Amino acid sequence: MAEKSRYDRLFEPVPIGPVTAPNRFYQVPHCTGMGHALPQTLAAMRAMKAEGGWGVVCTEYCSIHPSSDDHPYPFASLWDDGDVANLAAMADAVHAHGALAGVELWHGGSYVANLATRAPTYGVRSALSRTDPVQSQRMDRRDIREFRRWHREAALRARRAGFDIVYVYPSHGYLVSEFLSRSYNERTDEYGGSLENRMRLMRELLEETREAIGDRCAIAVRFAANGHGDEHLSAEEAQHVVAALGHMPDLWDVVLADYDEEMGSSRFVPQGALEERVAYVRRVTGKPVVGVGRFTSPDAMLGQLQRGVLDLIGAARPSIADPFLPAKIRAGRLEDIRECIGCNICYSNNFRGSPLRCTQNPTMGEEWRSGWHPERVPQGDGGTVLVVGAGPAGLEAAQVLGKRGYTVTLADAADEAGGRVSRESRLPGLAEWARVRDYRVGQISRMPNVTLYLGNRLLAADVREFGADHVLIATGASWRRDGIGRWHARALATLAAGAVYTPDDIMDGRRPAGEILLFDDDHYYMGPVIAQLLAASGARVRYVTTEGRAGAWSLYTQEQERAQRALIEHGVAIEVNVALDAFDGTTATIGCIFTGRQRQCAATAVVLVTARLPDEALYRELCGEDDEAVTTPGAGAGAGHASVLRIGDCVQPALIANAVYSGHRAARELGGAAAVPRRDRVLVKSDSC
Ligand code: ADP
Ligand code: SF4
Repeated sequence: MAEKSRYDRLFEPVPIGPVTAPNRFYQVPHCTGMGHALPQTLAAMRAMKAEGGWGVVCTEYCSIHPSSDDHPYPFASLWDDGDVANLAAMADAVHAHGALAGVELWHGGSYVANLATRAPTYGVRSALSRTDPVQSQRMDRRDIREFRRWHREAALRARRAGFDIVYVYPSHGYLVSEFLSRSYNERTDEYGGSLENRMRLMRELLEETREAIGDRCAIAVRFAANGHGDEHLSAEEAQHVVAALGHMPDLWDVVLADYDEEMGSSRFVPQGALEERVAYVRRVTGKPVVGVGRFTSPDAMLGQLQRGVLDLIGAARPSIADPFLPAKIRAGRLEDIRECIGCNICYSNNFRGSPLRCTQNPTMGEEWRSGWHPERVPQGDGGTVLVVGAGPAGLEAAQVLGKRGYTVTLADAADEAGGRVSRESRLPGLAEWARVRDYRVGQISRMPNVTLYLGNRLLAADVREFGADHVLIATGASWRRDGIGRWHARALATLAAGAVYTPDDIMDGRRPAGEILLFDDDHYYMGPVIAQLLAASGARVRYVTTEGRAGAWSLYTQEQERAQRALIEHGVAIEVNVALDAFDGTTATIGCIFTGRQRQCAATAVVLVTARLPDEALYRELCGEDDEAVTTPGAGAGAGHASVLRIGDCVQPALIANAVYSGHRAARELGGAAAVPRRDRVLVKSDSC
């Protein structure tokens, strides 16, 4: 008999209408950058969550009809029988592990631009799409009838594909929420005016979906419990909707009006932030409620149940970072949980139209493509490996190699492990990033075959002398101090060296004083975070960037607006679309990126957040320019030759996610032929081949 655990409540089955979730772990709908475009990749990824113990696994937003096409973002679709077959592959794969499969039926309304289908978009009024110069067609009564028919037909296809839970989705600014909006909805018929009328479409969809498939499928509704903002649907109005329609679905999936907050990064939003605003839904409806909160701690999950907030613990990101989170809680292996760090790199990929990936879990998205399993690695040949550098790349490589049975020595010049992750996690808002280090150091510390030596800077002679069979160089990168980056292809001619700082200087505790100009040509978090740090310590900071917004790339991680707001609130002066052209120690020259017109401003120090230089010195000393195998006189079984590979930022400075992935791939493939990842695509049958 299984031992009793304080977390048993998390593993109780939960009836949801006509179906029963096997436990309380619920992977809510989340985008993947796979959708209809990569059906096999998607099915294998979702199946991995089910294998890892998630009791319910849902799709991403799933278009019901070609009039809702979010191209180039790869949404799921249920337009025809082909889609039924492709999504059935996912539902079947999820069922194979005993989990329920859910599908989030979606119509984008005015939000989308239908770039692929070129069909007109529909809205409650003619409104601009989110990004394109395209307006929707105002829906007349006939259009509304058509839309309801499409929704019903998609629900029937969802049932045919084998889904157990089917969503109605009146949130996040999409079509049904347009009807709820007091601003967008200007109708004077039975669909406009009073709240009763504005929620008519939502009510009809709930009724019609139940009538069509409710015998076999549970009906879920994803609803912003705090409304959509006062000008659309106030918090009180949202409560009224919940009270009026509470009995209709089998499950309430509660979200927030503000997507930035609902899936806020750890830089700005703590765990469990939704509770206060969603807690009433369960009391009012008496139905099972699922909600998210970046929950990685089983005690935090239990708290949600005990306080009567949720019945099912919803997760997108924690299930991405660790598909086996439920299985690990079940087995009492809490120390093995790979906790999400809240960086939102996963989300950024959908926004870039590329498949999902994760900083913490390098196997995410590789389940089908590379055949990778997040918990299993192939056994190696038992040789010895020296890993130089214990940043995210080196740590990941060492822990994978340890699991593969190699004898691993990991050395780092610094007195702490983690490399850039340790340093960056001490910057404002980035503390959770240290989990990248902590998970891996925790794993390694329990492996007798992996030894970590800190405070050990290795020279080429040391590496040769060490005589390992394999050497992985993971020496990282450092920030440039010459101005070269996106904008400047050459070093700045006038740069008063003594007053030039880089992020490395700041992280090492060196602080400029006086009038500081920070030049951000990197465009992600580093520039704004350092500007904020310096301003918070009392300095006068001018933030200049070649982009149109502060930390512009963080639009993809849903952080940009908060980042810019934080700078404004810290009194940082922001200048966009300009580059630093010169700095003589007292004056900085900045130039407009469009006209080249220059002007000068007072500056006693500049901080350059431009590009990084890979630290490949050790690798080059060992291998020269030809990447030769290195001769190691001390090598035993390797007969004097070691394979030498570079991983992480010393090959290609990039995101932490890239460094972890690079370390993982190298370690997984060490000693064998590198596998060529599969490509998920339609293959045209040709008679001639
Ligand atoms: P990555 O992101 O690729 O893992 P990091 O910059 O985070 O790279 O980490 C690189 C690590 O390598 C740093 O902790 C640094 O101290 C270490 N390092 C660099 N050169 C050497 C060396 N010659 N010997 C030992 N450690 C080194
Ligand atoms: Fe969490 Fe970052 Fe992974 Fe997303 S990419 S799941 S936020 S660790």
